[in-house]
Amino acid sequence: CGIVGYIGPKQAAPFLIEGLTKLEYRGYDSAGIAVFDGKEINVEKSVGRLGVLKKKVESDSPIGCIGIGHTRWATHGRPSDVNSHPHTDCSGKFVVVHNGIIENYLHLKEKLITKGHVFSSETDTEVVAHLVEEYYEGDFEAAVRKVLTEIEGSYALVFMTEHEPDKIICTKQDNPLVIGLGNGENFVASDIPAIISRTRKTYILSDGEMAIVTKDSVWVMNRQGVPITKKVFEVNWDA
Ligand code: GLU
Repeated sequence: CGIVGYIGPKQAAPFLIEGLTKLEYRGYDSAGIAVFDGKEINVEKSVGRLGVLKKKVESDSPIGCIGIGHTRWATHGRPSDVNSHPHTDCSGKFVVVHNGIIENYLHLKEKLITKGHVFSSETDTEVVAHLVEEYYEGDFEAAVRKVLTEIEGSYALVFMTEHEPDKIICTKQDNPLVIGLGNGENFVASDIPAIISRTRKTYILSDGEMAIVTKDSVWVMNRQGVPITKKVFEVNWDA
């Protein structure tokens, strides 16, 4: 339901929590964040109010300057700790947050199970994490692009991997996603209020667009990888 992401020189967790708080008005049943600490991705998530996650993070904050976060409004799988986002593949090296519904997830899940994937949640979203791992052959961007040829439904998706921890990849179809352009840092969110305290320069992604976000660059392209020149949208209102 709510999505945030950060990549830059600062600690990611404080922004992720702050951004998710700004998106609370949309409603949710669980919340979580994933942060890369330089070696591995650490996930903290739990069912319930953001306050529960905040407490966990305050006592044992995930360290690192790249991370993604999510507040969930359950559509597939009851609200629970394991069904909360972010979701990972079996190795835990790929992580994803998702708004929307993957309509063909059962079919994809069956295919992945025959290939040896073991699922830990009941969500439609988890197939996306396993798929990107399945398709990864040394090129994160290519793997995500291949995932997009398989999934059907509505989504705003944000991916991160330990294999290429210098970037966040995001894409959308029928669910909103914006990128906040900072100085030596960039932000991703499902809605502008999450990023407005950090930057007013944004790219509003359109359906079928995909972005590679590093701390100093944002490359927007279509699903085939053809570059798209985006206009900067300046937010001139206050949240
Ligand atoms: N369909 C996903 C789930 O149930 C995402 C729901 C959402 O948009 O928060 O986990």
